[in-house]
Amino acid sequence: MDLEPLIRELSNYYDKDSQNTFVSVYFNKQDDAKFLEKRESTCSSLLSKEEADFFNQTMEIINEVLKKEKGKTIAVFASSKHDLLRSVTLPLSLHNSLVVDTSPYIRPLARIQDEYEDYTLIVLDSHQARIYTISLGSIEHEKRLSEDIMNKHKKGGWSQQRFARLRKGAIQDFYKEVIEHIDTHETEQIVLAGPGTAKQHFSEQLPKHLQEKIIASFDVDIDDEEQVLSSSLSKMKDYEQQEADDLVQRIKAEVLTDGLGVYGLEETLAAAQQGKIDVLVIEKDYKLKGCVCEHCQLIKSGPIKDCPICGGPTSEADVIEEIIEFAERTGATIEFTKHDELHNLGHIGALLRFK
Ligand SMILES: [Zn+2]
Repeated sequence: MDLEPLIRELSNYYDKDSQNTFVSVYFNKQDDAKFLEKRESTCSSLLSKEEADFFNQTMEIINEVLKKEKGKTIAVFASSKHDLLRSVTLPLSLHNSLVVDTSPYIRPLARIQDEYEDYTLIVLDSHQARIYTISLGSIEHEKRLSEDIMNKHKKGGWSQQRFARLRKGAIQDFYKEVIEHIDTHETEQIVLAGPGTAKQHFSEQLPKHLQEKIIASFDVDIDDEEQVLSSSLSKMKDYEQQEADDLVQRIKAEVLTDGLGVYGLEETLAAAQQGKIDVLVIEKDYKLKGCVCEHCQLIKSGPIKDCPICGGPTSEADVIEEIIEFAERTGATIEFTKHDELHNLGHIGALLRFK
């Protein structure tokens, strides 16, 4: 499941009057009824009269959706004022939250999208293969292929040599069949697993465009599905960490040569607002209190009561969330990472498309 289209769509919504009229709910298995009740009453008591009316209408809509998807982990984004309702059920666990704001709260969704990239997991030996499509950390699709040399070559009385030659040919045919199957569906990343040398021989037969997509391979008992899946997830995690490390190094190199890199809040925010960001990198869990005037799309760190441009009201905001929204609207990729160097660079940075 690709969350990107939903995240991008949500990033385009905001309340031009800077009213808190968007409600975002992230609810893990919906197993804590008190959480929602408590957040509902807290929020509705803090909102202005007009906002509270919108909030109550919006919560009615949201509660309908929750009822329909009872027991499932879900994210819901709604606003009665803006006629918005989007929801997605997720096959993973998340932190419960209910946020009322001037725009949908997309950061947790963006983090999930970053942390659980889809990949193809191929587990094989010389006569059987399982091809899994892994989405958001779970098996979305599975295909089993197997070759049976004895059925293909029933005639007996072979010499050892002839048998070995036929056997080799049959394995190659089998690998070809697996490759054809992989080639039919889109995949960006491949993890290869299985016992012994089969995966090595298999990867040598892969055409170059598929070979380049292999990000890890490891030994595993082909029948231990749980182990296969969890090992592949941890390989993906290592790979993503490595990607984030490389990204921070690339940003540093670009900044040093006065190239297409920025870091720190001011520069990154400006680049986001100008639609220049190709890849945005953010320190995990870093938040910064600030204000937004949705009317002017003005963002400032620290508190300001009225917008210096239009004089209208501002709304409290997490500046990082606002940068994420800008970046999403202009099609940037977003990476979250725990990284000392990024911390020292000001918690945030970006590679730019242009300057
Ligand atoms: Zn303004």
